[in-house]
Amino acid sequence: MSRFAKKTVRDVDVAERRVLVRVDFNVPLGDDGSITDDTRIRETLPTITYLIDQGARTILCSHLGRPKGRDPKLSLRPVCDRLAALLERPVAFAEDCIGPAAFAATDVMQPGEVVLLENVRFHPGEEANDPEFAKALASLCELYVNDAFGAAHRAHASTEGVAHYRRAVAGFLMEKELRYLGELVEDPPRPFAAVIGGAKVSSKLGALRRLLEKVDLMVVGGGMANTFLAAKGFQLGRSLVEEPLIPTAKEVLAEAERRGVTLLLPVDLVVARSLEDSSPWVVDAEKVPPDAMAVDIGPRSVESIRAALQPMAAVVWNGPMGVFEREPFAKGSLAVAEIVAGLSGTTVVGGGETVALVAQAGLRHRFSHVSTGGGASLELLEGKELPGVAVLEDR
Ligand code: ADP
Ligand code: MG
Repeated sequence: MSRFAKKTVRDVDVAERRVLVRVDFNVPLGDDGSITDDTRIRETLPTITYLIDQGARTILCSHLGRPKGRDPKLSLRPVCDRLAALLERPVAFAEDCIGPAAFAATDVMQPGEVVLLENVRFHPGEEANDPEFAKALASLCELYVNDAFGAAHRAHASTEGVAHYRRAVAGFLMEKELRYLGELVEDPPRPFAAVIGGAKVSSKLGALRRLLEKVDLMVVGGGMANTFLAAKGFQLGRSLVEEPLIPTAKEVLAEAERRGVTLLLPVDLVVARSLEDSSPWVVDAEKVPPDAMAVDIGPRSVESIRAALQPMAAVVWNGPMGVFEREPFAKGSLAVAEIVAGLSGTTVVGGGETVALVAQAGLRHRFSHVSTGGGASLELLEGKELPGVAVLEDR
């Protein structure tokens, strides 16, 4: 039995019940406090709509940002307005997630109605996973649903603690995340490839090592490839190289060889004089000039990645191939996005920046699954147990 097979809202009786749903409404905010991207709100609509249709009393809670105590700038009220617009129905707002304000707002609810509670992180008990705070949350409901995959790697009161006091099941977004990511770590379609990029080896070493045990092909790009190229004895000029991790990179290369896993490194690189340079040029990976830095993978690397990925039945991608935030350095990342999106097998993307890149390129809908959880997806791929998942009832 898969440890990712969890009961969902479909497996329990929700009609007329007070259902507390932990969602991930931690949306990005602009300088004026407006919501710059409502993807996270949209992703929870299937669960919320289902509960409404079933006649549940739906009580939503989430964190937003990292407030130190109560902070009007991190109120969920704007999210409440956006959610109401997306649902095309009223959503009541409770000025506090526990206590009198929360009781008042949820007490008057009729079946089919929705209330959003204020930011759970306004209370220190949330991140401390204080049992009293968790009990106060639980006292609002008869059933707990976790749909906040993006927060499931944290054992906080609203993601873990509350589940000790009520039956706890998964929402549809949580279910989808676990189905796709769980399959890749437990029983992936083969051949299976991982494409790993981003700035640093250090942030993804756990996932890299774990995936090496699972994959048939490992593609390494982005800043972290530099450390691997350095491990092969190449000079990388002023590129980002994590010197202390060179021995580790050597171990990973040896481990890949021992396992018969192809580990594909860039054969050419886009280099620049600085991150502000707008006229980068391409060099062979072993010929980075001493005064230049690698900012993207080159066109020959893109073609070798294309050929290697073509026969894959499943691909998981985490981490851009270069400093894609700067247009002159984005070609390699955009090309890899197109390549992975165009594959016929299962394609899963994770990672905050990688997902932003995919969305920016308008390719979101061409992947089998785009994970909403950066840190959570990485920890799942590392084989760690996610506390917010572990507490949910097994199927
Ligand atoms: P994700 O959020 O998708 O997991 P990471 O946070 O690991 O990805 O890394 C993303 C960052 O890596 C991007 O901001 C990008 O600019 C940076 N990056 C990619 N390639 C390089 C490089 N060659 N040198 C420096 N930074 C890089
Ligand atoms: Mg990131």
